[in-house]
Amino acid sequence: MSAKIIDGKKIASDIRNSLKNQVDNMKKEGIFPGLAVVLVGNDPASRIYVNSKKKACEEIGIHSEEYALPEETTQDELLKLVRMLNEKEDIHGILVQLPLPKHLNEEEVINAISPSKDVDAFHPINVGKIMLGKYDFLPCTPAGVMELIKEAGVSVEGKECVVVGRSNIVGKPLAMLLLQQNGTVTICHSKTKNLKEVCRRADILVVAVGKAKLITGDMIKPGAVVIDVGINRLENKKLVGDVDFDSAVEVAGAITPVPGGVGPMTIAMLMKNTVKAAQR
Ligand code: NDP
Repeated sequence: MSAKIIDGKKIASDIRNSLKNQVDNMKKEGIFPGLAVVLVGNDPASRIYVNSKKKACEEIGIHSEEYALPEETTQDELLKLVRMLNEKEDIHGILVQLPLPKHLNEEEVINAISPSKDVDAFHPINVGKIMLGKYDFLPCTPAGVMELIKEAGVSVEGKECVVVGRSNIVGKPLAMLLLQQNGTVTICHSKTKNLKEVCRRADILVVAVGKAKLITGDMIKPGAVVIDVGINRLENKKLVGDVDFDSAVEVAGAITPVPGGVGPMTIAMLMKNTVKAAQR
């Protein structure tokens, strides 16, 4: 039997439509949400992400400002820009596109963003609030994954949840959100032994590693919900996730495709955070 395909593109589009209505109403009350996107250097993938974010802002009616800085920008110049945006009244959300060029200190830049404008939820204060379960913003990709699980019609409570990958932006916060919804959570990483056996226990399996075809159908419990966060570009330029879709779709109960799964949700959640920041 073939798994249900969780259509992230469609779910994200519905979320954007509902945000557009919300923004239309906010504008009637004189609130005009604004997002500043800061891009340093010429990384082509970052440029594509920034363009998609700008397009989503236009669609929803969020005012967006792009600050494209040259590769040789200094740490001081970047910090100065962030501090200016912290003070700027028509800007409610600040996003610094990562990764930054190697000579810049990402941690210091993230720490400089005002937590109330930190729509990526990467600032230590926002990360700490997620640990405590009392957050203003959720990090966009984990929040998008939780929405997809909900849309698959699956309750997390009491389920065996396995998260493969423990990065600060995806794996760790996601594990925390699954825990908050009463899942029994296991986090796997590069030192995990018997990855196959651990994955096969999962009712809900989320993979965020960055290795094409790491998870194959024989590593999935029949009927499991499989969310593939990975984005990998093959030599033939094709985009694929971390899950071998063709073998997984025969075993899983529901699965996200790549592209068209988690990616569009990440941007929709960024828009949601920006609207929330403006409301506050
Ligand atoms: P990181 O490189 O920061 O983390 C990768 C994680 O995978 C690490 O925890 C690492 O373990 C673990 N890992 C590496 N090899 C293995 C292995 N063989 N078995 C088990 N675990 C392993 O990646 P990110 O979390 O930033 O991103 C993960 C993927 O998700 C990437 O493909 C990225 O492009 C994609 N992504 C997609 C987004 C979207 O919107 N769809 C948004 C963000 C990311 P260890 O800690 O031990 O090194």
